[in-house]
Amino acid sequence: MSLPTALGALKTAADLSVQLRNLLKQSDQLPVNEVLARIIEMQELIADGRSALIDLQDELVTKNGQIETLSLELRELRDKSRLGEKLVSDGCAYWFPDKREPGDGPFCLACWDADGKLVRLRFLAEDIWVDSPGRSRLYKCEIHKDSRIYIPCK
Ligand SMILES: [Zn+2]
Repeated sequence: MSLPTALGALKTAADLSVQLRNLLKQSDQLPVNEVLARIIEMQELIADGRSALIDLQDELVTKNGQIETLSLELRELRDKSRLGEKLVSDGCAYWFPDKREPGDGPFCLACWDADGKLVRLRFLAEDIWVDSPGRSRLYKCEIHKDSRIYIPCK
């Protein structure tokens, strides 16, 4: 039952109660069967309206839960977007620029690009990349277990 139908049923029940009260005021000789029939009709209308309102209340609780979940997701996306605007890539990893060089980092390119996860790379060793023209450092992403990420030293 929809909300307008539920409200209509409750209004009809209220109207019937007014009619019944007016009839009782005019005459105390009303047939008992007629009074009982109107009372039963009002009870059914009230029960239908109440049932519909309970269903709608459950639906509202569900909708409120969905709104809360979507609000949290929106907040996370906004936070992630702001975080992404601050990240700088050197081609090997992401960094947060800082007054100190090279800044806070490094963070895994693949984890951020694919999943939006900011995963700090774990330092393994220095000067291990023989093809590098200068010094470099070897890092590993704990998410990508087989990763070997060489970052030239600045
Ligand atoms: Zn990774």
